[in-house]
Amino acid sequence: MHKGFNRSLELFAEAQQYIPGGVNSPVRAFKAVGGQPVFFVRGQGSKIYDVDGNEYIDYVGSWGPLILGHCHPAVTEALHKWVDLGTSFGAPTELETRLARMVIERVPSVEMVRMVNSGTEATMSALRLARAYTGRNKIVKFEGCYHGHADSLLIKAGSGALTLGVPTSPGVPVNIASNTITARFNDLAMLEEIFALEGKDIAAVIIEPVPGNMGVVPPQPGYLEGVRELTRRYGTLLIFDEVMTGFRVDYHCAQGLFNIEPDLTCFGKVIGGGLPVGAYGGKKEIMSMVAPAGPVYQAGTLSGNPLAMAAGIATLEQLTPVAYEELERKSARLAEGMARAAKEAGLELTQNRVGSMVCTFFTSQPVVDFQSASTSDTQAFALFFQEMLKRGVYLAPSQFEAAFVSLAHTEEDIDRTIAAAAESFRIVKEH
Ligand code: PMP
Repeated sequence: MHKGFNRSLELFAEAQQYIPGGVNSPVRAFKAVGGQPVFFVRGQGSKIYDVDGNEYIDYVGSWGPLILGHCHPAVTEALHKWVDLGTSFGAPTELETRLARMVIERVPSVEMVRMVNSGTEATMSALRLARAYTGRNKIVKFEGCYHGHADSLLIKAGSGALTLGVPTSPGVPVNIASNTITARFNDLAMLEEIFALEGKDIAAVIIEPVPGNMGVVPPQPGYLEGVRELTRRYGTLLIFDEVMTGFRVDYHCAQGLFNIEPDLTCFGKVIGGGLPVGAYGGKKEIMSMVAPAGPVYQAGTLSGNPLAMAAGIATLEQLTPVAYEELERKSARLAEGMARAAKEAGLELTQNRVGSMVCTFFTSQPVVDFQSASTSDTQAFALFFQEMLKRGVYLAPSQFEAAFVSLAHTEEDIDRTIAAAAESFRIVKEH
């Protein structure tokens, strides 16, 4: 029996007095699903525990980093070991080189890597570097892809590909937005058109190889290959934003899964094992332009923080190729079970999955881009979300997010999730 949310409600009321919207990152506020956010006190393995004493099977995993689940002993031990030696030096430690080497060994396109503190910093810095390297200003991003909140990336599409970018947020100057061209994911013809007109001015194409910020959208066969070929032809750098997919979908990241070599790659989430980290890397020739090796300035007081490095190293050490096979099996079980439960409830839904990124779209259309994702019935999703929450399953509070399966999820967790979904789908159907 769910014990209700009384203490969460009290804490949220108080938080709203001191923190904008009561949260430190907008999607946490449950705006897309109604109701109020749940406050947590503890996580263990696949479970999280709220301030009212409720237990949930967690598919948010801190929005992706916790691929080993909460409080994995290897990560906790590493943190205990290093915290006693100091929390930050602002000077080099051996840990930074170790994590850099682990990333480079697993990702062939990356020969050098710079640690930062968030995914936002990684993409922002990679763009600056791409602009410096090419001597060009324009960039291309894709509608529905999220790359953090740097000004030039907070842009949505105009009515057509070639309309100048329109800022998604007030405070982003129009002249910055005008350097960002927005294209449709999975539409190579549109990208070719953009390049035919503006290709020689485009510094970089930045892309989530598997978009996970409009739900989960697999790239269609040949699409990423086409993007790679086109960018190469025009001397434009291809930046894979693997903040979400990096070490999540494959031992060699999404670029390994699809066998594409980007010029630059951004990381975050999993490489920090639950502590604040980001990174960007690529060919030596390009990365050597970053200060102090080269003229492109980028710095950070806490960059390469020893605790974050230790958690990242401990996490990557657990992520053997065999671990990804286990993740794949568990994730397939979840996705297939969810699809079956929806069908049995009489709902026509679209189930997308790449590795351990899973998404149930409340639409019967195939979801291949932002437009098709937008056909989802977000009210039906909101009801589904609330019903799952009551049944002890914590999903991301928005239709346009991935559910993340971790190595800590057991088959029993997954079967319980599918059973909860079967009931919740029936309620949605009746509604
Ligand atoms: N890129 C992608 C693909 C992301 O999913 C995110 C965050 N969800 C970011 C960048 C930004 O990362 P951060 O929130 O750490 O700044």
